[in-house]
Amino acid sequence: MNPDKLVICPRCGSDACYVAEVNQDISNHFCYGCGFQSNTLMREGELIMEEQMEILPELYKDLRHEDKNRQVWFPSTINLPTKGMVFANGSTSKNWKWAAVKSIEVLEEEKEKYPIPGKKGKFYENRMDMTTMKMFEEHDYMEALSYIGVLPK
Ligand SMILES: [Zn+2]
Repeated sequence: MNPDKLVICPRCGSDACYVAEVNQDISNHFCYGCGFQSNTLMREGELIMEEQMEILPELYKDLRHEDKNRQVWFPSTINLPTKGMVFANGSTSKNWKWAAVKSIEVLEEEKEKYPIPGKKGKFYENRMDMTTMKMFEEHDYMEALSYIGVLPK
């Protein structure tokens, strides 16, 4: 297996596209330049594509990008309970931005408001604080990750 590596993103042209091999035939692609992701199975006609089209929000489907190797890319979604979220947000593929939301600790006095489903008497320790939501341009994806503390500033 080859070590993980950075390549040129076939979507945005940045050199910050991270490739991680899953096995000989499959590798995951995650571009830190534009925030889009793909893997070598993501092609029209593959089962995984049908599954993606069922679960992805409309905006994500609108932003579908097919590269010159016919591999399909979608915006990524980051959801880290102790850090925050970064997701594509907007009405259409021509009018959208990255939204970054920070997570905060749930205060002792408000924890009853955040029960963990199916776990009686257990409460979330962190929650997404929607008041911290900040929008970032598509090519400022890394700044959005810095904002929630996933990447250093
Ligand atoms: Zn890219």
